[in-house]
Amino acid sequence: MHALSFDVEEYFQVANLRPFVAREDWDQIPSRLLLAMDPILALLDRHGVRATMFFLGWIAERHPELVRRCVAAGHEVASHGYEHTFVTDMDEAQFEADLARTEEALVAAGAPKPLGFRASTFTITRKTWWAFDVLARRGYVYDSSVHPVRHPTYGVPDFDPKISVVEAPSGLGSVIEFPVATLPGLGRNWPIGGGGYFRLLPGWFHRRAISRLERMGRPTATYLHPWEFDPEQPRYPAKASSRFRHYLNLDKTLERLDRLLQLGGFGTMREVLEAQGFAERFEAANR
Ligand SMILES: [Zn+2]
Repeated sequence: MHALSFDVEEYFQVANLRPFVAREDWDQIPSRLLLAMDPILALLDRHGVRATMFFLGWIAERHPELVRRCVAAGHEVASHGYEHTFVTDMDEAQFEADLARTEEALVAAGAPKPLGFRASTFTITRKTWWAFDVLARRGYVYDSSVHPVRHPTYGVPDFDPKISVVEAPSGLGSVIEFPVATLPGLGRNWPIGGGGYFRLLPGWFHRRAISRLERMGRPTATYLHPWEFDPEQPRYPAKASSRFRHYLNLDKTLERLDRLLQLGGFGTMREVLEAQGFAERFEAANR
C-alpha cells in the first residue's frame, strides 16, 4: 500500500512565488482552490481512494466547508502549518504557536485534531531538528517533512528514506518519519515523490518507480498540490527555471493521477503507517 497526499494551499502561496505575492495581499487575491479540489475529490471518489490532506490553517479558516467535505469523504486531514512559514524561519516557540493555531483552525472547521504534519517546503532539516521535540510534545504521530535529498535550501541527504522512528532530541517521545518518495541511484536519492517531478517525468516513470520501491519493501508517499491541477491559474514572471517547474504540464496532472490510481493500493498516510505496524500509536493518540 502507498500513500497519496495533497498539500492544500492556494497557487499564490507557493514558496517559489514569494517575490511576487506579499503575505498581506493574500486575502485580496481571488481563491482558485475549489476549481482544483472539486475535480481532485471527484477523481478520488471515483477510484474509492482516500488521501491525506495537509491543510494550511489559513486555508481551513477560509474554507471550513472544504475541510468538512474531506472529512465526510473519509480523507485524513493533517497539518501543513498555519501560513506556509518555513520551519527554518521560526524558533521553537514560534513553531509551537504555528502548530497550535493550525490545530485550532482544523478542529474549528470540523476535523479531528491532526496527527500528521508536513512542513512548508520540507524545512525540517538538521538545523531545525528540535521540531521533533515540539511535534512529540503536541502528540503528533507522524511527520513527512524530512526530504532525504540534496537541495540548496532543504533536505537531509544522509537520512534513511524508509519509514523510521525519530527520537525527539530532548529524549521525550518520538515521531514516525514518513518521507516523500525518493529513488536510490548513482549513490544518492532522487526526488520522485511528486511536485514538479510528477509533471516533468512521464507517467510511466512514476508508476515504474513506485513498483520498484514496492519490490524493495518500501511503501511510498506521493505528494501533489491543488494548483498543479489548475492550468488556468494566473502566471507570475518568475525566473525561467522556476516558471518551467511551476507551470509544466498542469493540464495533464489529473489524467496522470487517474492513471496512477489505476495501479491500485493507494491510501492515506495514516492507513499506510497502520498497515506498517504503527496502529497502536494512532490509537494511543486518539485516547
Ligand atoms: Zn506547501
